[in-house]
Amino acid sequence: MKAAERSRLFLELDLARNGKQTGFIRVPHSVHRSAYGWLPIPVACIKNGEGPRVLMMAGNHGDEWEGQLALGGLIRDLEPAQVRGRLIILPSANFPAAQAGLRTSPIDDGNLNRSFPGDPDGDVTRQIAYFIEHVLLPQCDYAFDFHSGGSSLMYIPSTLCRRDPDPAAMARLLGLMKAFGAPLGWVGSALQGQDRTLTAAARRQGVVSMGTELGGGGQVTPSVLKLAAEGMRRLLAHVGAYVGPVPATPDTRLLTLGGNDYYVYAPDGGVFEPLAELGDEVKRGQPAGRIHFHDTPWRTPALAHFAHDGLVICKRVPGRTERGDCLYHLGSAYPG
Ligand SMILES: [Zn+2]
Repeated sequence: MKAAERSRLFLELDLARNGKQTGFIRVPHSVHRSAYGWLPIPVACIKNGEGPRVLMMAGNHGDEWEGQLALGGLIRDLEPAQVRGRLIILPSANFPAAQAGLRTSPIDDGNLNRSFPGDPDGDVTRQIAYFIEHVLLPQCDYAFDFHSGGSSLMYIPSTLCRRDPDPAAMARLLGLMKAFGAPLGWVGSALQGQDRTLTAAARRQGVVSMGTELGGGGQVTPSVLKLAAEGMRRLLAHVGAYVGPVPATPDTRLLTLGGNDYYVYAPDGGVFEPLAELGDEVKRGQPAGRIHFHDTPWRTPALAHFAHDGLVICKRVPGRTERGDCLYHLGSAYPG
């Protein structure tokens, strides 16, 4: 049996048909309330003849709203005449998580972006991952995955890609990031355990991929939504999949993303007091934040330090913090 045929999910759309179609990917889900029911993951296909085949995806984490709303707008606004090739638009990929307003699925605690390559017989989140990697990606040339900081983090709006040792492939990735036009674009290596992400899935399937981190805090803002909507059009125009009007492209500052020393973690549980702001240039050894012990407020707060020089691109949002929570991460000059 072919890998795609092992998926238990059913796609209502015909990906070979020209025009705009909307509907659902049905995830069979037999529960007390609904014996023969299915979970509805919204999906759209906009096709106009031959051309690039693009997957536009958000809601990989359910509480990252910017990409989800911008992709909804794209589905409503784009007409097939403006498209060359085919767009598959998946605004809320982990739909149960999005419906609950959570990063992970309330059904199985699944983090979709740690669930690839998935399992056709696994729990719901792994079944979704399997469908994306083995059914959708093999039918695509490009995969764009629109993340943001979600409930716990806030980012300076950024595009990101994984470093590619092939110079031509790397140049193509930098071209995609510059076309989107976020203020920052970072090039990183895969962290430990990151073979389970959509980026890793795309690479396994020979699909060119780029991601974003568009803001966060579990909210949306007018400026980030505008960047998302315009950046998506610029990106699609850049790959030759969109022929409508495209706003001018702002400059992107390129950064390198390193390993563990680019991250600051809470050394203890308590209340986080940031000592740096997004956009600050910081030095190795500089104090990054205090963790206050509000249960014993006479104790001296624990101090977290930056372990690398760099630009603060991401900062934790909630005050209450546990040991091991990410407080910041940094980028440094590209190519580094
Ligand atoms: Zn995410």
